[in-house]
Amino acid sequence: MGKIYRSFWFIILGELCSGMFLTLKYMFKKPVTINYQFEKGKLSPRFRGEHALRRYPNGEERCIACKLCEAVCPALAITIESEPREDNSRRTTRYDIDMTKCIYCGLCEEACPVDAIVQGPNYEFAKESREELFYDKEKLLENGDRWESVLSKNIQKDKQFR
Ligand code: SF4
Ligand code: SF4
Repeated sequence: MGKIYRSFWFIILGELCSGMFLTLKYMFKKPVTINYQFEKGKLSPRFRGEHALRRYPNGEERCIACKLCEAVCPALAITIESEPREDNSRRTTRYDIDMTKCIYCGLCEEACPVDAIVQGPNYEFAKESREELFYDKEKLLENGDRWESVLSKNIQKDKQFR
C-alpha cells in the first residue's frame, strides 16, 4: 500500500504541489520580515544602544562627576576628569567612552544617580575607523540633545521597575 501511494504521489508531482501550495498560503499572510532600512523594528524601552549624556530642561548638564559609571564599567571604557566650577558645583571637564571597549552591559546607566549617562535607541552608528568610536563629552552631549525626547519617554516607562 505504501509503495502504491508513494508511486502515485510521485506521478502527480505531490512534493512540488505541496511546496507550491505552501508558497501560495504565505503569499496572503502578513510578512514576518521587514524591509530594513526603510522599515524599522519595534525596540524595547530598555534597548541598550549608543550612549548619550543628558541635560536638564534648562540646558544644564545632569552629570555631577561622581564617577560611579567610571568605577562600575567592567570594560574600563569610561574616562572622566572633573573640577569644581565657580559656583562650587562639580562638573566633568572630560568624559570619554571608548566604544570599541564597551560591551553594552548597561551598568554605567544603572549606576548613574541622576540619569545622566544612558544608552539610547540608536543602533546605527557603525563607523569606518576606530578613531570615530572614541566618543568625547561633546559627542555624548550631542547624542543626548538629539535623542532626548525618546530617552525621557523610555526612562519614564521603565521607572516602575527600577
Ligand atoms: S555599557 Fe557597560 S561596558 Fe559600556 S561603558 Fe557602560 S558600563 Fe562600560
Ligand atoms: S554620568 Fe552619572 S554616574 Fe557617571 S559621573 Fe556623571 S553623574 Fe556620575
